[in-house]
Amino acid sequence: MACWDPRTEEMPKAELDKVQFKLLKTQVYRLYSFSDFYRARMKAAGVTPDDILTLDDAVKLPFMNKKDLRDSYPDKIFTAPKRELIRYHASSGTTGKPTIVGYTRRDIDLWAESLGRGMVSAGLGAEDVIQVANTYGLFTGGLGFHYAAERIGAAVVPASTGSTERQIQMIQDLGVTAMAATPSYMMYVGEVAEKMGVDLKGTTLKTGLLGAEPWSDKMRDRIQNQYGVRGINCFGASELSGPLWTECSEQCGIHVWSDIALMEVIDPESGERVAPGERGELVLTMLQKEAFPIVRYRMGDLTTMEDDKCSCGRTHPRLMRITGRVDDMLIIRGINVFPSQVEYCLNTNPEVGNEFQIVVERKGALDEMLVKVELKQEAFTDDIIKLNAVRERIGNKLKNTLNVGVKIELVGPGTLPRFEGKAKRVLDKRVI
Ligand code: AMP
Ligand code: ZN
Repeated sequence: MACWDPRTEEMPKAELDKVQFKLLKTQVYRLYSFSDFYRARMKAAGVTPDDILTLDDAVKLPFMNKKDLRDSYPDKIFTAPKRELIRYHASSGTTGKPTIVGYTRRDIDLWAESLGRGMVSAGLGAEDVIQVANTYGLFTGGLGFHYAAERIGAAVVPASTGSTERQIQMIQDLGVTAMAATPSYMMYVGEVAEKMGVDLKGTTLKTGLLGAEPWSDKMRDRIQNQYGVRGINCFGASELSGPLWTECSEQCGIHVWSDIALMEVIDPESGERVAPGERGELVLTMLQKEAFPIVRYRMGDLTTMEDDKCSCGRTHPRLMRITGRVDDMLIIRGINVFPSQVEYCLNTNPEVGNEFQIVVERKGALDEMLVKVELKQEAFTDDIIKLNAVRERIGNKLKNTLNVGVKIELVGPGTLPRFEGKAKRVLDKRVI
């Protein structure tokens, strides 16, 4: 099976550990020396770079979480000078402001290298035509897959999201062999193709680079059996560098390159590491990133990892399916949505009362989000024109904040359920 960088990918585990340790140590020294934020954090945890004597000493380093990123808006924890930055991306924050991530030239380069390696491990290469149906822009998906596909010499069709009929036309006309998308969008492409009288199985499209949202092996089988598309699971997050890792052709877990990141899975309560195969929260440290490295970042994703050698010959550990979250983050059409963002946004409207409820459903292949909003007594009127104007304004504000379209239903005061304990504001009816 083809390898992009066989020396690194198939490096014996003991040697790979040494490489990883050296990278970790270098990163920790750099951050301790040059970043006030990281130095203060390490001091508070009573650890200095000199205490990192083995790879396992990584557990002495303090965790980071989404709050740290929120508090640092827009660039307080960047660790490269501004003149060295060549790009910014952004992702959903937990309230009004997004999280901003800056990149140096080397950061962009390593990102393409990491994902490119993954694409080759999934059997792709210079002969392929890869249609990128992820959003281009502040989100990392589009440009992430784009640069990696170019890196391995494939031809890129930068289709971005939407215009599904045109996407299907291009698959046929350009001989597209692989498509990067969310798994639910891949299903939707299949459904639209059927309606257009196009049998995807009869086209050149054979591989789906699918991720950005939870999906199951059942869904993978459906995509494979109905549309003839091999679903390759891909993982990344905008805090790290967008899509970074994929499964190899064996399709048995995502290879997280040990020279790019240190992967850990911890018990979310105690913070202690759990054994390979045991479920816990994913924690990642970016080992070579310059502008926005993040150390022991708690991703909030619940998963397991495997540490044994893959049957493909690669020695790097594998990230298995993401099966849940430790927090209340929702992923709607591949986009992260926090109920706290919805609440923050609703509260900027004077007509809105105390309660709201988010209902998420999968209609056909795609997610739909409905927000039921309780109005204050004085705003609850039988003047339809007024109500429609309020609904439209709230809908637009939410769309701008969340980057995803939302349906709004205005309801009278006191009609939504009340809770004695923690409010349960999300009704997620999706089966994946
Ligand atoms: P973003 O920062 O918008 O790229 O979102 C990152 C989050 O998307 C991750 O923390 C996961 O919760 C989710 N995610 C990304 N890829 C996958 C995947 N393959 N399976 C399940 N969840 C995923
Ligand atoms: Zn493998």
